[in-house]
Amino acid sequence: MTELTELQQKIHDLLPEIELSFQEPMSKHTSFRIGGGAEVMAFPKSREELAKLLKLSTLLDCKIAILGAGTNVLAPDEGIEGLVICLKDCLDGMEQLDETRIRVMAGVTMSRAAVFAANLGLSGMEFAHGIPGSVGGGIYMNAGAYGGELCQICEQVEVMDRAGNLRWMTNEEMQFSYRHSILEETGDIVICADFCLTKGNTEEIRARMKELIGKRSASQPLDLPSAGSAFKRPVGGYAAALIDGAGLKGYQVGGAAISSKHAGFAVNIGGATAADVKKLLQEVSDKVYENSGIRIEPEVRIW
Ligand SMILES: Cc1cc2nc3c(=O)[nH]c(=O)nc-3n(C[C@H](O)[C@H](O)[C@H](O)COP(=O)(O)OP(=O)(O)OC[C@H]3O[C@@H](n4cnc5c(N)ncnc54)[C@H](O)[C@@H]3O)c2cc1C
Repeated sequence: MTELTELQQKIHDLLPEIELSFQEPMSKHTSFRIGGGAEVMAFPKSREELAKLLKLSTLLDCKIAILGAGTNVLAPDEGIEGLVICLKDCLDGMEQLDETRIRVMAGVTMSRAAVFAANLGLSGMEFAHGIPGSVGGGIYMNAGAYGGELCQICEQVEVMDRAGNLRWMTNEEMQFSYRHSILEETGDIVICADFCLTKGNTEEIRARMKELIGKRSASQPLDLPSAGSAFKRPVGGYAAALIDGAGLKGYQVGGAAISSKHAGFAVNIGGATAADVKKLLQEVSDKVYENSGIRIEPEVRIW
């Protein structure tokens, strides 16, 4: 075994109860299947474990990054120095609070949360069923699809600051906007969220979810690794239409390409590196600008 770095040794010695992995390939934890090793990846199972990790990272003055399901992240080829805290499947659990409200932990996938709501006969989360991320990642960036956005159903969010302190934030305090919340500025971490839904019919809710999944698989390149829509929707247009209009369907840089099925998706067609994807996104943004005068910006979080 290779020698541990000072940081790996210290975290290992000081937090023996927490599940850790060293030089963990980010490609195993991102839907793009791209990214080098994380110096330390930690999998906290509770708020308490997460708080311990945050306090230790402050003490050791090490960089931290929060990872959900990794479906909106482009991780660097050279790997990540410091600590990556992976919350998917770690902060786990869902409960019904009353007739119309549910509480979902940040590590639960949006798909599982939508099925949970459907089984309770609660409507409003159908749009989120096909979004492959975690509830934490979804809240962080106000995920949405088919006219729905998490901000429309999210009542309040429990967050932890980087010192390990917990508090609840109202929907208003979250300052949600298109693919954005205040957490991008504060760096606070989603622990769980309460969703306010409406009473509905389970069979109808399931049918709607099935219909939306059908639409996705008909139009999106779900057979190839990607991070979903590569670009945000610009003012005055749709990124996919602008990319298509610039004749860029199938445009390729190394192992990364604009999907020929859906121009809004950048896909890993085999062996793509983060450098390939970044170059592809830059070139596509430039060409779209030349063609339409509209600048498109990446939606995927480039680490
Ligand atoms: C095939 C495909 C289809 C997609 N379709 C859609 C779609 O229709 N609509 C849509 O909005 N998105 C879509 N996405 C993108 C993605 O699923 C969403 O952006 C999702 O919300 C990301 O969640 P995640 O858990 O994967 O977050 P990650 O990718 O793990 O992280 C994204 C960002 O959120 C932060 N983060 C993650 N968890 C937390 C937390 N608990 N607290 C604070 N910050 C956190 C991370 O630090 C990072 O900056 C799609 C992706 C794919 C691959």
